Amino acid sequence: MSTDAGAAGADSSIERELERMLEIEKFPPPAGFSASANWSDPAIYEEAATDPVGWWTERSKKLLDWDVEPTAGLNDSDPPFYKWFEDGRINASAQCLDRHVAAGRGERVAYHWRGEQGERRDITYADLYRDVQRLANALKGLGVRKGDVVGIYLPMIPEVAVSMLACARIGAVHNVVFGGFSAEAVRERMEFAEAKALITVDGARRKGKTAPIKEQVDEQMGGVGSLATIVVVRSTGIECPMTEGRDVFYDEVMEAADPECPAEPMEAEHPLFILYTSGSTAKPKGILHTTGGYLTGVTATHKYVFDLKPDEDIWWCAADVGWVTGHSYIVYGPLANGATSVMWEGAPDYPHQGIWWEIAQDYKATIIYAAPTAIRTFIKWGAEIPEKYDLSSLRLLGTVGEPINPKAWLWYHQVIGGGRCPIVDTWWQTETGAIMITPLPGITVTKPGSATTAFPGVSAEVVDEREGKPVEEGQGLLMLEQPWPSMLRTLYKEDDRFVETYFSRFGRDRYLVGDAARRDRDGYFWVIGRIDDVVNVSGHRLSTAEVESAIVAHPDVAEAAVIGQSDEDTGQAICAFVTLRGGNEPSEEVEEGIRDTVATRIGKFARPKRIVWADDLPKTRSGKIMRRLLRDIAEGRALGDVTTLRDPGVMQELEAKIAEEAADES
Ligand code: ATP
Ligand code: MG
Repeated sequence: MSTDAGAAGADSSIERELERMLEIEKFPPPAGFSASANWSDPAIYEEAATDPVGWWTERSKKLLDWDVEPTAGLNDSDPPFYKWFEDGRINASAQCLDRHVAAGRGERVAYHWRGEQGERRDITYADLYRDVQRLANALKGLGVRKGDVVGIYLPMIPEVAVSMLACARIGAVHNVVFGGFSAEAVRERMEFAEAKALITVDGARRKGKTAPIKEQVDEQMGGVGSLATIVVVRSTGIECPMTEGRDVFYDEVMEAADPECPAEPMEAEHPLFILYTSGSTAKPKGILHTTGGYLTGVTATHKYVFDLKPDEDIWWCAADVGWVTGHSYIVYGPLANGATSVMWEGAPDYPHQGIWWEIAQDYKATIIYAAPTAIRTFIKWGAEIPEKYDLSSLRLLGTVGEPINPKAWLWYHQVIGGGRCPIVDTWWQTETGAIMITPLPGITVTKPGSATTAFPGVSAEVVDEREGKPVEEGQGLLMLEQPWPSMLRTLYKEDDRFVETYFSRFGRDRYLVGDAARRDRDGYFWVIGRIDDVVNVSGHRLSTAEVESAIVAHPDVAEAAVIGQSDEDTGQAICAFVTLRGGNEPSEEVEEGIRDTVATRIGKFARPKRIVWADDLPKTRSGKIMRRLLRDIAEGRALGDVTTLRDPGVMQELEAKIAEEAADES
């Protein structure tokens, strides 16, 4: 058996598992869906592949109203520092607002906002247009200039979109920090970016409690010398400290500001925002996106991947705006397309575990875009909960963020989608700006667990580890082989790390994704996790995701995380951290049951050597399992960067369990 990723043999049992899926679980687009889809002709792939740069340039001109249309497509004279649409000029906020208002769509709702305590606010395009102009003027008045960095640390309230667009309007570069991060994490990011201003809130609500955000911010922000202004949104009305000469209230500066702020056309390559990655694999990276290419990517993918019909759809991206998913598919994509969105302030289990479905029913949502972590949680809570609501308005479902195991895919399809909605499993990254590998719902035959194929104009390959040669069928490293408009331009202030991380392995013109993937005989991509998440047991290359899928197939299991641990006999051995469904207790019987399930589904060699019972798994604040921390504790190493860990208590508990295990053994 070869140890080369590119040559995992056809005798491998993963292959068998894939075969099984290939045979029985294919989902063609429903006929009615294709008939009215934005794209239903597969010729689009060919068309884009013939001249990707020309194709993207044409797309861009069709989807956006450039102030100055670009004559240049791609400038690739200094890879990997690519430039797109260089001589074009455009303003992101004008694309999201002005053009809709000018076309008489000002009264359309941009956001149906729902607050944690049941409050409702419907914000129209005209409302946003008014507020964004005022805030843009207010920021100018506070000394914010084109190119300055403005931090945004806000919960899921409409002001977060207003703040981002106000920055874009005047060419300030926003740096949104997810509201779940601590004020300390905000300080680090503000310091590093030398932010001029920060927009935050008095307090933030979470599950009925109010956190004193401004007070926490104040404890941290004193030392950030560049920070001249803090704008405070009065969201909860709690008392908060204000520093004379530095802090101002949002409502007061808005009131005082001039109502008109014409949008300034920006160079296509003008920076739009900085955003840090989730930190699943390493210290977070400050991804820099620019204006014209990014807008092109998000507008096109939002329209075609989700088959968006702005006059009919009620779109709901259930991510937080603090992640790239929120940037691209709550703010820029939907607004550029003139869509009506749902925006939910709160958690999925407050005030009750059916709140998502209650909201979807209320607003007659037609498309939901959510993360596998949320779906797994809903599975844990039980199908009875969504079944109480009328979800018949739904016509399309999407997922993003992690591989989704086939069982969860099918549950989503049946329980939420009533068996009638296509699912688009979309693969992309903070770095890619927009969706890269995905079904097109009117064209693609989907297979649960596969993100299927690259979006038109995107060139993805699976290549072998050593030479970087494309693998037709089999496993290897995922690469993006051609530049695309919405790609990151660099890591903020870390050009060397940018080149080193993404463009050093096989040359400066080939983007190394950092994920491992398989390609099946239909050319479909199966993203199986991070490069580090491939385990090698006695020469068998296994993906942690596949072993996890097998473990969760056991009826008592709710969730599992698998890592490879060094092993004297087999090189690496499988170590599984397993959470049981409510009501089940760990026992030797369950342990054996899990091993048997894995043996049947994959093969004996894949059986976990070690099973650690966990009450919960360490996750990033965006809900992804942090396997690198599990590797650290399993190998007895000091923990790596934990700043993006959601609940530090989980790691303490696991460390205690491992210590107990070690004590038992000795
Ligand atoms: P860091 O780069 O700091 O480790 P991160 O990679 O988790 O954090 P993101 O940019 O939010 O930060 O996530 C992108 C990654 O998420 C992808 O590289 C991939 O591993 C995973 N991912 C996203 N969508 C999918 C999907 N549909 N299927 C499988 N994996 C996915
Ligand atoms: Mg990443």
